[in-house]
Amino acid sequence: VWAKTILTSLQIVARQVSGVDGVAMSAKHAFGENVDRLITVEMCFSPDFPYGVAAKLYEAARRRFGGPLAMMAAEELMRRIEPESYVLILTGMMIPPWNTAETDGPIGAAALARILRIGFNALPVIVVDPSETTVRAVEAACRGMGVGIVDLGDLGRVSYSASIQTFPLDVEGARRAADRLIGELGPSAVIAVERLGMNVRGEYHTAHGYNCSNWSPRMDYIVERAREVGVLTIGIGDHGNEIGFGAIAEEARKIVPYGEVCRCPCRGGIVCATETDILIVASISNWGAYGVEACLAYLKGDLELMHSPSLELRSIGECVGAGGIDGATSAPTASVDAVPAELNAHLVEMLGFMLRSTRMRFKRHF
Ligand SMILES: [Zn+2]
Repeated sequence: VWAKTILTSLQIVARQVSGVDGVAMSAKHAFGENVDRLITVEMCFSPDFPYGVAAKLYEAARRRFGGPLAMMAAEELMRRIEPESYVLILTGMMIPPWNTAETDGPIGAAALARILRIGFNALPVIVVDPSETTVRAVEAACRGMGVGIVDLGDLGRVSYSASIQTFPLDVEGARRAADRLIGELGPSAVIAVERLGMNVRGEYHTAHGYNCSNWSPRMDYIVERAREVGVLTIGIGDHGNEIGFGAIAEEARKIVPYGEVCRCPCRGGIVCATETDILIVASISNWGAYGVEACLAYLKGDLELMHSPSLELRSIGECVGAGGIDGATSAPTASVDAVPAELNAHLVEMLGFMLRSTRMRFKRHF
C-alpha cells in the first residue's frame, strides 16, 4: 500500500513539474524554464574546450535562486529600471597581444543595450577595458546590433544609442572609477556579461587556469559598490570565473576545471568570489543575455523587442571586423566560443519563435 501511495505522490509531483494539468506551471514559468534550457545547451565538444559544466553550474544556481533564472532577472529589471536611468553593462576584455575583446560578452551586452534603450527608455553605459581595440570591437558589436555609440552627455537625446566608458587597470583608479560610476550616474541596475571577476585571493584567471590579473581591470568594485547602495546587480556567465559566480562559489569550485586550484602561484582556483543579486548561467554568456532579452520582451508583451537573426549575424561580423576574436579558438572568425555565427543566429531565431508562439492560436478539427 505504501509503495502505491509513494508512486501516486511521485506521479502528482511529476505532473505538477511538467505542467500537464495546465495549472501548476504558469505560462510565464514554462516560458522562462524553456528559455533557461535552451541557453544552457552546450554545442562544443572539442577536447580542447571545457564542456560538461553548464548543466551542473545551472543546477547549483537554481538551488540557490529557486525559479528560472533569466525570467527572474527580467522581472527584477522590469521592477527596478526607471525611464532615463542609467544601466551599467560590464563586459569586454583586452586579450594580449592585440589587447582586443572576444566575441562572447560584447554581442550579448549590445543585445541588452538595444532592448533596454528601445524597449524601456533606459540609458545603457557599457563599461570595458582601457584598450582602443576593445572599445572599437564593442562599438562595432553595438552598431551591428543597431545601436549607435554616443558620448555620455548625448545619450538621453539620441535614440538607439549607448555609451562606452573605459575602466582603469590600476587598483586605486578602479576604486575611484567604481565610486564615480555608481555615485554620479546612480544606475538602476548593473549587469555583468562574461566579465572576468576576482577569486578569493583577488586574482583573475582564464578558463584554462592562467593568471590574467595584469590585463583585467577590477570591475568587481563596481558590483561591490552597487550592492552597498542597493542597486540591482546581475551576473551572466558560462564558466565560473566571471562576476556573479560568488553566489555559487563552493559548488562551482568542484565543477569547473581549475576550480579548486589554478595554474598560478595564488592557488586560489579560478572561481570568481564576487556575488551578484541574480546569477544567470548559460553555455555561452551571450546566450544568457539573449535569455534575459527574450524574457523582457515576453514580460513587456512586445514581441518585436527581441533582436533578429540578421542583427545577430551583423553584430558578430562587425565585432570581428573591428578586431574582436573568438575566445575559445583565439581566431578572428565569425563565431562565439567556437560556435559559428549562423548557429548563434539560429538560437536567436528560436527565442524569437518562442515569443511569437505566445500569440498563435490553433483551431483543429480533430
Ligand atoms: Zn591563481
